[in-house]
Amino acid sequence: MIIDGKAMATEVEADSRSRVERLGFGPGLATILVGDNPASRMYVKIKHAACDRVGICSVNVNLPEDADETVILETIESLNSREDVNGILLQLPLPGGLDPSRAMSAIAPEKDVDGFHPLNMGFLLAGAERLVPCTPKGIICALERLGVDLVGTEVVIVGHSNVVGKPLAAMMLNRNATVQVCHVYTRDLAEHTRRAEVLVVAAGVAGLIKKNMVREGAYVFDVGINKVADKVVGDVEFESVLKVAAGVTPVPGGVGPLTVSMLLSQTVDAAEMQMETWMEKEKEKR
Ligand code: NAD
Repeated sequence: MIIDGKAMATEVEADSRSRVERLGFGPGLATILVGDNPASRMYVKIKHAACDRVGICSVNVNLPEDADETVILETIESLNSREDVNGILLQLPLPGGLDPSRAMSAIAPEKDVDGFHPLNMGFLLAGAERLVPCTPKGIICALERLGVDLVGTEVVIVGHSNVVGKPLAAMMLNRNATVQVCHVYTRDLAEHTRRAEVLVVAAGVAGLIKKNMVREGAYVFDVGINKVADKVVGDVEFESVLKVAAGVTPVPGGVGPLTVSMLLSQTVDAAEMQMETWMEKEKEKR
C-alpha cells in the first residue's frame, strides 16, 4: 500500500479549518526567512499557501542575507509581543552557517509552532508533549490514522537529528513503542532495519534503504528529500520496498504534506492555548 500522506494531510487541514471557524478569528503565523535560498523560499511559499486554505493569516518577514544574530533576535522579540501573531517559524537553515539555537530559544515557547524551543523539547522528553516538531508529529498522526498500535511495536529510526530522529524517538517512547535509533556510525544498519515493524528513514541519502533491509509487513516512512538528476527522491527504494512492506510513503506526497498539515494544526493549538490564557487573565481582573 502507498501511504497517501497528501490525502491524510487534506483531512487534517479540513479539521484545522473547522477549528479556526470555531475560534472566530484567523490565527496568525509569522515566518522569518533570512536570505534568499531558493529551497527555503519555496518551503515558506508552500506554508503560506497552506495557511490560506485553512484561514490562518500568514505574514513573512524577509531579512537580508547578511542579517546578523542581533537583527534576527530583535525580529523575534517584536513578533513575540504582537497579539495578532500566534505562531512564529524561523525557516532553516540560516545563511552563512549561522547557529540557529539562540534564535530558537528566543521564540516565546507558546508561539513555538515548530516545537524546537528547549522548553518544549523538555516537555516532550518528560512525556508531557505540548508544541512538538512537525515532521515526527505527522508520522505519529499517520500511524494513528492507519490504526497501528504502537505499544510494544519495534520502531527503528534511521537518523538522529534534532528535527526528526531525536524528537520522534521521544514521541514513540511516550507511546510505549520499543525504539532503536540508528545513524551514520551505526554498524550493520540492515541488521537493525530488518527488525522494524515501523521503519522511519531520515538520513538524506538517496536509495539508502533497499528491499532486503525491510521486514515483511513493515510500515515505512521515508522522510528524506534528495535531488537526483533533477528528480526529487527519498531515502528508500520505493518500488522494490513496496513489494515487501505493508505500506510506504512516497516522495513527494508522503511525509512532506503531513509535516505542513501539522504546522497548521499546531498554529491553531497555539492560538487556542493563548486565547485560554487571555480569558483566564481577564477573569482574574474582574
Ligand atoms: P540531518 O541531515 O541533520 O542528519 C542526517 C541524519 O542521518 C544523521 O543522524 C546521520 O547520522 C544520519 N545518516 C546520514 N547518513 C547515514 C547513513 N549512510 N546511514 C545511517 N544514517 C545516516 O537530518 P534531518 O535534518 O533530519 O534531514 C534528513 C532528511 O530528511 C533530509 O533529506 C531532509 O531534507 C529531510 N527532511 C524532510 C522533511 C519533510 O518534511 N519531508 C523534514 C525534515 C527533513
